[in-house]
Amino acid sequence: ASVIELQQVSKSYPMAGETFYALQHINLSIAENDYVAIIGPSGSGKSTLMNILGCLDTPSNGHYQLAGRDVSTLNEAALAALRNEAVGFIFQSFNLLPRATVLANVMQPLVYRIMSNKKRQAMALDALQRVGLANKTGHFPNQLSGGQRQRVAIARALVTKPRILLGDEPTGNLDSKTSREIMALFDQLHQEGHTIILVTHEQDIADHCQRVIRLVDGEVEQDVRNEQGARLH
Ligand code: ADP
Ligand code: ADP
Repeated sequence: ASVIELQQVSKSYPMAGETFYALQHINLSIAENDYVAIIGPSGSGKSTLMNILGCLDTPSNGHYQLAGRDVSTLNEAALAALRNEAVGFIFQSFNLLPRATVLANVMQPLVYRIMSNKKRQAMALDALQRVGLANKTGHFPNQLSGGQRQRVAIARALVTKPRILLGDEPTGNLDSKTSREIMALFDQLHQEGHTIILVTHEQDIADHCQRVIRLVDGEVEQDVRNEQGARLH
């Protein structure tokens, strides 16, 4: 079943009295457990597409369905709720709260959920176990390496049991050895059944994924299955 469906999606901005299209005619279907890289030159629309997929922004035209919900019809509050429930974000800069412990960082997406603090802690600990950091719950981000910080961020993305994991240059701030470790973790999560979408300009990362979508000037220029990537898993 497809978890993501885009039909004729465009995103436009008014510019000098005209309409500038950051994205246009995007038709895209992403299946459950797909492992996708979105690539393309700077300015091609990758961030714009990621913001739409992650429900941080809505299309100007067309339809976007995430987990069966038509995102285009949602108001700001409903969009925020869907984002929290269905999307796990992973950023280049980790975006951890510096004054919060590892456990508190991972619990953060659950703060507005109606559940006991004990339950939040148990879910956060479970997510930390899945990234191999259950022994760092009391540490602060500045006591961890870059790779460990990104693992914490991945645990935070996992804690809500989202339908999609969305990474924005998730290895962009890591050295090559640490990048490979983080990609191995994404491989593991993919094998466990997660749907993973990574925006990247690194060919190594794209080669690792099972499907590569290339944007140029706001349009899908190429959308290919990567047999090599598939064989790695
Ligand atoms: P990429 O992530 O591939 O570098 P972006 O999605 O950031 O590309 O941008 C695509 C195009 O849309 C660029 O030309 C950019 O300048 C333009 N753009 C993005 N956001 C806005 C905005 N808020 N207002 C006007 N133009 C924008
Ligand atoms: P950069 O790649 O420059 O580090 P980020 O990855 O931090 O940028 O952010 C990418 C996009 O995600 C931006 O549109 C930003 O507004 C949004 N964003 C950043 N941090 C968060 C957050 N904690 N929650 C939701 N959206 C965020």
